[in-house]
Amino acid sequence: MAAILTTCAYCGVGCGIAAKVVGDRKVSIAGDKDHPANRGALCSKGIHLGETVGLEGRLLHPMIGEERVEWDRALDEVAGRMRECVETYGPDSVALYVSGQLLTEDYYVANKLAKGFIGTGNIDTNSRLCMASAVAAHQRAFGEDVVPCSYEDLDCAELIVLVGSNTAWCHPVIWQRIERAREQHGTRLVVIDPRRTETAERADLHLAVRPDGDVALFNALLGEMLARGLVDQDFLAAHCTIPAQFWDSLDCSPGVPAEVFSRFADMVAESPRTVTLFSQGANQSVGGTDKCNAITNLHLATGRINRPGAGPFSITGQPNAMGGREVGGLSSMLAVHLGFSLAERADVATFWKTDHLCKGPGLKAIDLFRAVHDGRIKFLWIMGTNPAVSMPDAGFVREALARCPTLVVSEIMAETDTSRFAHVRLPALGWGEKDGTVTNSERRISRQRALFTPPGEARADWQIICEVARLTGFEEHFSFDSAADVFREYAAMSALSGAYGKLFDLTAWADCSDAEYDTMRPFRWGGRHPCAARFPAEGGKARLVRVTAPVTPSQQPDFPLRLNTGRYRDQWHTMTRTGLSPKLSIHRREPRVEVHPDVASEIGLLDGGLARVGTPFGESIYRVELSEAVRPSEIFVPMHWSDGLSAGGRTGRLVQPTVDPHSGQPGFKNTAARIAPF
Ligand code: SF4
Repeated sequence: MAAILTTCAYCGVGCGIAAKVVGDRKVSIAGDKDHPANRGALCSKGIHLGETVGLEGRLLHPMIGEERVEWDRALDEVAGRMRECVETYGPDSVALYVSGQLLTEDYYVANKLAKGFIGTGNIDTNSRLCMASAVAAHQRAFGEDVVPCSYEDLDCAELIVLVGSNTAWCHPVIWQRIERAREQHGTRLVVIDPRRTETAERADLHLAVRPDGDVALFNALLGEMLARGLVDQDFLAAHCTIPAQFWDSLDCSPGVPAEVFSRFADMVAESPRTVTLFSQGANQSVGGTDKCNAITNLHLATGRINRPGAGPFSITGQPNAMGGREVGGLSSMLAVHLGFSLAERADVATFWKTDHLCKGPGLKAIDLFRAVHDGRIKFLWIMGTNPAVSMPDAGFVREALARCPTLVVSEIMAETDTSRFAHVRLPALGWGEKDGTVTNSERRISRQRALFTPPGEARADWQIICEVARLTGFEEHFSFDSAADVFREYAAMSALSGAYGKLFDLTAWADCSDAEYDTMRPFRWGGRHPCAARFPAEGGKARLVRVTAPVTPSQQPDFPLRLNTGRYRDQWHTMTRTGLSPKLSIHRREPRVEVHPDVASEIGLLDGGLARVGTPFGESIYRVELSEAVRPSEIFVPMHWSDGLSAGGRTGRLVQPTVDPHSGQPGFKNTAARIAPF
């Protein structure tokens, strides 16, 4: 039996998979040796995908409340309620909250319906929680959300710096690539992370910065490069603009011991080919955009960008966070990397042939759920995500969902913490059941392909959205025959923003063989050589951005610790898929709070005992794991567990809803907290 080539359902590495269907809802999984993202490698989550494709717990029929209904009735209900809401309260009373799990074709039609035809900017995505700060930083530095690296750069770097990334657990196939580069080429590795993670354990140098200490560290590092005469003045003069008082802002303490900083600076100085990978530790911060720009400043000022083995490289969390960015699925973008200027709005309105285009940016995730809570949003359609668990201050989000006059949930699972509140549940197709595209961290587009026939009455998200569009009077604009048809329109539209038009012109789905898909190159904006670089910002020049270290929050007597959050190696998001795999549960069977032994002995916590973790936003119970990987002033908890899985470990309830002012991304990594024996 021939293998079907597809792409992993989980993280932004975007590994190619060769899948063989070996029985009814049974599939054997192997890495696709020809896929450039992984060259046959897979991590534990990818390898065990076959254990998660059963139909147990699936939502297989449309439901209104607890009543099983026909599709026609469910769609009439959704379209009718949406239309009534727009007519009575205006378009901004409607919102969509979508997901980096959707395929690009789903994302495209959701964005087109919301911004183009309902006329609301209120479509945001769970990618807001994952990489919005990287997007904002790219836009500030380059003039556009450009990713100036590819995985190949890891193969030829002399030095790789990981910032806020437990790569060995969260992006394991990238980690394997890094390990291979270290073995074969002697590439050195620096890890910047408050915790001594498994990744940090294996680095040549670990800088245990304080929470949110990254801006000070990178400013000080650039100051040190300036002092050593290693700023590339020719590159700066030719390719960058520099704001007033930029160099003064570099005069700060690095926040780590002098000898550690000096060693780090030596390694950077010796390595013109440096790649800095940054992930959620940088992004999920109330100063996340500044952190990302501090990293980008270093690369621009030292000319370590747009050449082989050099550049700042944001690693995305979800399989299609990048595809969502590209179609414009964030509320802060209009479509295909276009914003809301008059000219951009006119281009989009002409392309979509609409008079209903939204007037401006919509609400970002945190504000969107606040608007649901206070009644400004009266119709909310959630697709492929579980905000009742994953959002910060999740207790508040649950209140908002309970109050919402109409909540529609498109889901693959029958029961989730979010769908409990739904008035209408629509059964969606999941991984292995539908066709479409995803874009990975290096902007390589790959196919996801159907392995099984659709179960029950489930439908692809793009089909469901098009049906609702038809019933709300926009049929001629949503008359797509297939996902490929959607992709074709999106490809044509991408030409509006220029930079991406070329890529897609070459790769329109119907005209593209599988081999061409799989060898597509990630976008580069000006060739590999600095002299050829032309940035999308005005004048073709990138911008250094003046950023200053955030003020350390004053200690709250009732909450003396700082709470950090993150992933376990073998789990994904809120475990609606990975929780189905017995093998994946072996690594960590329950949520644990990592506590330093000194703190534990001071307050009477025992290893393996239970502890109550509290913040100003909520409280939950965790098993205690004594660990010297965290400082005495910090504790760490995993993000995955929900009501349906455990009586404790509900991390979303604990996290502050405070956001970065530029990106709207919440600060998951640094909430005031306390801990006590249970
Ligand atoms: Fe899937 Fe990511 Fe693992 Fe690759 S690294 S197999 S994309 S989870």
